[in-house]
Amino acid sequence: MQDLTYTAEIAALTAPLYGKVKHVVPEIEWPVFAPAIVAINRLKREKHAVILAHNYMTPEIFHCVADFVGDSLQLAREAAKTDAKIIVQAGVHFMAETAKILSPDKTVLIPDVKAGCSLAASITGADVRLLRQKYPGLPVITYVNTSAEVKAESDICCTSSNAVDVVEAIAAERGVDTVIMIPDEFLAQNVAKQTHIRIITWKGHCEVHERFTAADIRAYREANPGVVVLAHPECPPEVVAEADFAGSTSGMISYVGTKRPKRVVLVTECSMSDNVAVEYPDVQFVRPCNLCPHMKRITLAKILHSLETMTTEVTVDPFIAARARSAVEAMLKVKPNTSRLQRAAA
Ligand code: SF4
Repeated sequence: MQDLTYTAEIAALTAPLYGKVKHVVPEIEWPVFAPAIVAINRLKREKHAVILAHNYMTPEIFHCVADFVGDSLQLAREAAKTDAKIIVQAGVHFMAETAKILSPDKTVLIPDVKAGCSLAASITGADVRLLRQKYPGLPVITYVNTSAEVKAESDICCTSSNAVDVVEAIAAERGVDTVIMIPDEFLAQNVAKQTHIRIITWKGHCEVHERFTAADIRAYREANPGVVVLAHPECPPEVVAEADFAGSTSGMISYVGTKRPKRVVLVTECSMSDNVAVEYPDVQFVRPCNLCPHMKRITLAKILHSLETMTTEVTVDPFIAARARSAVEAMLKVKPNTSRLQRAAA
């Protein structure tokens, strides 16, 4: 057990980190966080471990202990590249499974095994097999927010940042004009508006993004004249239609970084605004948001416990992992359509 007393030495050691996050972490909370941050960073070095943190992690995790941060796609790529022996996934279970699928020889830990996801819970491998029977010959594109078992039944994976490219790439490769894209109904509907490929989807929703409404967006604009609205494509299409830009969490971050709007609202999970605000203090963030209860299960205390006890190790059946890996690797090979990216950024 680590000594988690807040001493003058800990305060001095963590002063630069606190300087970074002081606008989003109350001073009163720092004595609780700082000893755990020091202990986690020391254990990482001793055990040759890295922490992958999703953009929805709280700022003391995202900015103070993470080695790699990003959206699902960025974290999947880092998981594949790192030479660390141990990966701690500060995110939800499907992300830890994806890390394990791509790095079968590494130990992948999740600090809270109950950190699930409403999208991942919405569909099973058996559901995918039934869809294939109903629509024979159509390729199955699976959002990365799914279990390894569901990925294993798929032809290719996608994330919210590459979904349009993946739909068009697999349709061209298979010579079809229709694809199955599961399980996020809203993501599929938003993607369908950007391509001529027909998309059959599923009834899964993200419990965070499905709660935003078009009326919410209009209310944000009315209360904050001139605010720029960025929405995640897991939101319902009528929400995306009201936004100035729709993109993955990494797409939103790059929009804020390149455009530097004076005032912005990120229509997504609450921690995003805090994490981006640390990097761009000149941008004013309007902060209506919805919390993801699954992401918020991951805390500094649980990350420390995870590293101390090497729990909970995430395992994936090797047969399922091999099939899921081929779907994830197929996605990683899809080249981004740069002309579309330039149009989106314009
Ligand atoms: S924000 Fe939505 S998609 Fe992401 S983990 Fe939470 S429930 Fe799942």
